[in-house]
Amino acid sequence: METYSDQYINGGWTPSLGGGAITVLNPATEEPLATVPAGTAEDVDAAVAAARAAAKAWGATDKETRLRHLTAIRDGLAARQGEIAATVTAELGSPVGFATAVQAGLPLGVASSYLSILADFEFSERVGNSTVYAEPAGVVAAITPWNYPLHQIVAKVVPALAAGCTVVLKPAEDTPLVARLFAQIVHEAGLPAGVFNLVTGVGSVAGAALAAHPDVDLVSFTGSTAVGRSIAEQAGRGIKRVALELGGKSANVVLPGADLARAVNVNIGNVFANSGQTCSAWTRLLVHQDQYEEAVAVAAKAAAKYVPGDPTDQATRLGPVVNAKQRERVRGYIQAGLDAGARLVAGGTDAPEGCDTGFYVRPTVLADVTPEMTVAQEEIFGPVLCILPYRDEEHALELANGTQYGLAGGVWAADEETAVAFARRMDTGQIDINGGRFNPLAPFGGYKGSGVGRELGRFGLEEFLQTKSLQF
Ligand code: NAD
Repeated sequence: METYSDQYINGGWTPSLGGGAITVLNPATEEPLATVPAGTAEDVDAAVAAARAAAKAWGATDKETRLRHLTAIRDGLAARQGEIAATVTAELGSPVGFATAVQAGLPLGVASSYLSILADFEFSERVGNSTVYAEPAGVVAAITPWNYPLHQIVAKVVPALAAGCTVVLKPAEDTPLVARLFAQIVHEAGLPAGVFNLVTGVGSVAGAALAAHPDVDLVSFTGSTAVGRSIAEQAGRGIKRVALELGGKSANVVLPGADLARAVNVNIGNVFANSGQTCSAWTRLLVHQDQYEEAVAVAAKAAAKYVPGDPTDQATRLGPVVNAKQRERVRGYIQAGLDAGARLVAGGTDAPEGCDTGFYVRPTVLADVTPEMTVAQEEIFGPVLCILPYRDEEHALELANGTQYGLAGGVWAADEETAVAFARRMDTGQIDINGGRFNPLAPFGGYKGSGVGRELGRFGLEEFLQTKSLQF
């Protein structure tokens, strides 16, 4: 087991100022992998001071300089794909195939996309008798979760650096090892000291100190609604900008005439990927009442193919969830659904066969779910699909829009026109039409309780800019 006692601050690894440690567990074996420092408010002060000291010079660099550094970061990510995937498999339990394709591949794709976005971006434009300049927001606090640990880091840090901001990153307690690997990649890319800093630590200590720090200009947070709300309240008091990505309860709507079997099969893959720990997952499948039992049967058959197992095995499609607390939370939701009258079509609350060790949850499908049930309203963040019947299109829309969230969704119809017309009426940030593929250039973010702000693409870069106009 590795023991790390340093933070990445001001261009180097420096001893953490507190004595506390966080033990990182392998969720498949429950064995400790490493310890990392539980950073203190003093560590955060040092990191923010370094970021502040570097902000003016980095913000004044030209596009070519930033592009050179971001290219080096992209190349570092490309060179270490295997190491990244293995690290995420170890600390999160992502099956290695998924870890390679998505946990390592997606951040590489996002980092690459910012090279062309930055190259094409105009940092000033003429508007009537004014010139409007897009200037960096300043010092950015990036606070990230564990579910797509490197993607969440890259989706904040890379556009922030591209915008000319300096960054202090506080990654999730459960997945600090890939964050340390990212810091190494940034270091090797030769960024000036202080432009990027990493403080590992507990959310209520290091995260809270960073979010509340008076010398931070913008907090970019992804995680739970409760923490997001408290960050927004603090930011309000400090007149600080915030970007919040807070999860969802996304609906996949299958309209009559659509390819039902395909829509249900794709939904099962979507909701069980990463053990259901995806904020944009389609956790509610909405099907017309006349096709309901057919959809339930297809879902049951598809779910049976997701056998939980060892995430280091190439054949495994479903690993554990991240920790014991999440396992209990997810099983508690399944039980709450059954207690409320939902029908168990697949899965359940017991440990999957052969998985007594590790934080495993059976891939679960609940039918006869009604909209007022907790399982239909709250984010479960585990491999659980709820299937709800609808009477007609208006009812489907009411159900789709009937939660506090609005992050993602899917619409399936016989033709694109019908699907688009329905999708335009959904209160949600991104919707896949007839199984449309994820696009890293498209904005990602929520309506309603799913958050404020957008990540990815040009929109993600603009989050980290502020404007100044000069009149002539
Ligand atoms: P969380 O909100 O507690 O943690 C997310 C990040 O915020 C971590 O880095 C954490 O250390 C930090 N943090 C925690 N408390 C903080 C505070 N007071 N001030 C500043 N930073 C703080 O989320 P969690 O406990 O890891 O997960 C709980 C639930 O959140 C999940 O079950 C899921 O519903 C949701 N979640 C959503 C996403 C998403 O992508 N939207 C990701 C992870 C979790």
